[in-house]
Amino acid sequence: MIFNRRTRRLYYEDFLLYKAPARVVRIEDDSIELDATVAYPEGGGQEADHGTIVLDDGTVLRFDDAKKLYLHPAGLAEFPGLQVGGVIKHVIVPEDRLLLRQASLGAPVVVQIDVERRARLALSHTASHLLYLGISQVRPEAIESTIGCHIRPHGARFDFAVENRFEADELARIELVANAYVQSNALVSVSAHAAEPDARLWHCDGRVIPCGGIHLTSAASIGPLQVRRRGLGRGKERISCEFPQAMPALDGYHAKRAEVAS
Ligand SMILES: [Zn+2]
Repeated sequence: MIFNRRTRRLYYEDFLLYKAPARVVRIEDDSIELDATVAYPEGGGQEADHGTIVLDDGTVLRFDDAKKLYLHPAGLAEFPGLQVGGVIKHVIVPEDRLLLRQASLGAPVVVQIDVERRARLALSHTASHLLYLGISQVRPEAIESTIGCHIRPHGARFDFAVENRFEADELARIELVANAYVQSNALVSVSAHAAEPDARLWHCDGRVIPCGGIHLTSAASIGPLQVRRRGLGRGKERISCEFPQAMPALDGYHAKRAEVAS
């Protein structure tokens, strides 16, 4: 069954949008739903954007989470298990929740994200793919046993259910592969499936990965990746990366103007 509301995902139409007009669709005690948003919700291991929603009377509601709800299966063979559609709920920080009473259904608002956090998350997300490409070359069997992924502003990690731990020489080789992509400033592009705009493909160096996250268009600004391992108990390994010299680019982000009804 397909849910009857769908939030327009402006971050897929233009991933450099940081601010856009929208309208209120639903108000709850702790959250607000809009007809469109620039805020990327938590998904695929990537943390959500943070930001503000400014009501037409000037009231500012800060949100520190955004969640996807009521998705439905895309039903595309290339994307097994992919869920699309549904709505995005902006979770308002506890101190601002009483201000939700000022919001009214259908009213115009402006939704804006914290650009620095977004730029960091896009960088971290792209780095996570380069790490994954490194792991897929050095320990291909681990890729089949991925059990978790977490992408935060300053680092990324994957968890694997594998019998053999990652040895120091394997970590060094993974780091080399990932850093070679950074040094060559590997180009990254993202395309959408013709039948379903929320079904997205990540392309880099001839590799194609289904991924709905937000990415950089080139790898150089990530800087050198440092790869580490941690054992999580018997048969579980965590591989993480950090990039202390990263230079997330803030230029290019822009606001969306109100659309003129035709
Ligand atoms: Zn991705």
